[in-house]
This record gives sequence, C-alpha cells and structure tokens, in this order.
Amino acid sequence: MLLSGTVIVDAETVIDDGAVVVADDRIVDVGERAACLDRYPDHERRAYDLLAPGTVGAHVHSVQSLGRGIADDTALLEWLFEYVLPMEASLSAAEMRAAAELGYLELIESGTTTCIDHLSVHHAEEAFEAAREFGVRGRFGKVMMDKEAPPGLLEDTDAALAESERLIRRYHGTEDGRIRYALTPRFAVSCTEECLRGTRELADEYDGVTIHTHASENRDEVATVEEETGRRNVHWLHEVGLTGEDVTLAHCVWTDESERELLAETGTNVTYCPSSNMKLASGVAPIHDYLDRGINVALGNDGPPCNNTLDPFTEMRQATLLQKVDRLEPQALPARTVFEMATINGARAAGFERVGALREGWKADVIGLETEGLTRATPVHDVLSHLVFAAHGDDVRFTMVDGEVLMDDGEVLVADAAAVRRRAREYAADYDAAH
Ligand SMILES: [Zn+2]
Repeated sequence: MLLSGTVIVDAETVIDDGAVVVADDRIVDVGERAACLDRYPDHERRAYDLLAPGTVGAHVHSVQSLGRGIADDTALLEWLFEYVLPMEASLSAAEMRAAAELGYLELIESGTTTCIDHLSVHHAEEAFEAAREFGVRGRFGKVMMDKEAPPGLLEDTDAALAESERLIRRYHGTEDGRIRYALTPRFAVSCTEECLRGTRELADEYDGVTIHTHASENRDEVATVEEETGRRNVHWLHEVGLTGEDVTLAHCVWTDESERELLAETGTNVTYCPSSNMKLASGVAPIHDYLDRGINVALGNDGPPCNNTLDPFTEMRQATLLQKVDRLEPQALPARTVFEMATINGARAAGFERVGALREGWKADVIGLETEGLTRATPVHDVLSHLVFAAHGDDVRFTMVDGEVLMDDGEVLVADAAAVRRRAREYAADYDAAH
C-alpha cells in the first residue's frame, strides 16, 4: 500500500508532500510522493492530510472501560478501593470481554496502535483474545493482588504467579508477535514481597517478558509502603527486583532525589499520565527532572474512570500544559518532546523494536489524520504543534498496525463498532441498576 500526505517521520523529520510505502508488516520506503509513485506505480493507494507513527499508550486499563464516570471527584485510594476494584471484581467473563473490546476500539479509532495494558485479576484471557482479534499491538498482563484487595480480587500468591505463567505460555509473542506479556502486580500496597520477588523471577525466566506496575502515584500510597517496608516506594521496588530496563513504572509523581537517581541508574522506564494525575489530584510528576537524568519517559491515558478518555492527542496536550503551568515556563515540554514520549519513547517502554517512527525497515504502524473540517483548526503551520495542541482523536481516519489496516476512511474493519458499543452500554446499564 502507498500512503501519501504530509509525512511525520519522527520528531525531527517531516516530508511535506510525501509517501510511506508498506509491504507486509514493514515500511519499505519513505520519501517524496512523486518519486514513490514512480517507484511503486501499482500499489494500492490512500491519501490523508497527515501521516504519523501510531501512538503508544504506555499505561492503559482497557478492562475499566465500563466504569467511566463511576468514581469522579475522588482521590486514588478511595477511587480504587471503594469504586474501581469492586467494579472490576463484579465483572463476568463476558463483561470483561465487552470492556476490553470497547477499550481497543477506542484506541484504534483515536490512533493508538500500541499499548501497555494493565488488565484485571480475573478473566485476563478475555482481553488477550479481544486484542488478538482487534489487531492492536501491546503488552498485556493479568493483575496480581495477594494483599490488600477487596473480596473477589484477593488471591493466593502462588495462584497469582501460576496464572501469570500460564498466560505467558499461552500468549506471549505468539503468531505475529504483536501481543507480548508484561507481568503486572497492581502496586506495592496490594502485593506481598513474595509476589513481587516472584514477578522478577518469572520475568527472568521467560525471554522478552517485561514488568509493568504503578508506583508513587499518590502521597498516601507512598506513606503506606514506607510504613510497611521502612523504604521509599522506588527503593522497595528496587530491593525486590522491580527496577531495570525491562520495567515500566506508571506515574512516579512522588519520588525523592535518591529514588530519581535509582530510576536513572537502573534504566527504569516511567509512564507519565497527566490527565489521571490531575483528575485524581495526585500531583505533578517531575518530568523535566526525569528527562534531564536521561530516564525514558512515555505517555499513558491510564483508565477510563480516571481520565475519562483514551484520546492520545488530548493526553499530549495535557502533558505539556501541566508542565508549563507547574514550572511557570512556557518552554517546558515542547511539542516535539511530547510527541516523542507518545511514540518512540512509548515503544521503548513497551519493549518493541523498530516501532514508533515511520522509517524504512520499521514496523508499519501508521495513522492517517484529516486537518480540514469544522473543528480541525486549519491552517497548519507546524504539524507537530498541530498534533499536540490542536488535533483530536476524531481527526484520525486511518489506522494500520503491522501492515494490517484496522480502520480505513473512519470505518473500523476489525470489529462491528456499533455492536461493541451496544454491548458496553447494556452492561454499564446493568451495573448502574445494581448500584
Ligand atoms: Zn493505572
């Protein structure tokens, strides 16, 4: 397929009248449109105003998609233990499937091609099957909670690790390699030392399996971990093996100097979730400090009940605005840096190679956007500025993952979008009726 338009190769390179040529799962050529048309005259064609690498949502919870709006105006621990975890505990396998499908549909529709998805304690295979069917790329993991969990989610340590291992064997790196496994303990508050150490052992045992958990999102969480372990949260995670290049920690809002140093020394990835941090009043993550230390910072929308949207463009906008106002520096986190977080840094955090830029030989994960129309903020002087400050998920009209077209001209090809939404609405109505 030959895709033409203004091509955003990466944060440094834009081709105004360009083309991206795709064969199988790879980008085989990127260049001027006229030259590509000469070289590939017989390729099927698509034209969009802007072509960009698909974005990477480096911390999402697809299975919370039925809980949008159930816990507004609460802080993390109340939000989690009073509302979101009981909701997760109540979901049947069919409801989990419906929630995951809605999540992946929204990712595809708004231009996210890779995710790191923190699932739930039960029925994780429903999400794996949905991801496989919908064709998204990502890291997925069954959540482990063997301490401090509501009824229905608390599990035995050995059972949590055994179920994770079963899912690794079944889904990690199978078929086209789009689906990979991340071990996902919920967070230090809800996991025993044995569970966290067991997580590291499993990650070392299975080639390419990574670790993803929440860390230091909220001050009460940090205080709880310190009370229980006598350590700052990141020091505790380090002690039990949960730092390193194969680890991505979501949030890291409340870290001290020594923890930041440790994150940098160990090459641990951090996912910045600005909307969630604002909505739960968690705080402002020290992103500039992390970047100055060379820490790989990715971007994530977090869950539908704490954002409440999976739109990556809204997240990019929030990411930069929050840093600017926090530091009172208009230069803070420029569009190019945010765009890198949402693409190439995210791919690195998710552990996918040759993903996150439209370069020859890289994976064909491409999105096409329109810039014309009532709310689309034309004219566009600077395409990266447009993507970060003005674009919206609805502007995405084309989504390709691994060379497979998942959405074409605004129509999702891999699922019946209306049916997915209808099922989600029905289950959400049942939930409302019961609460
Ligand atoms: Zn989260």
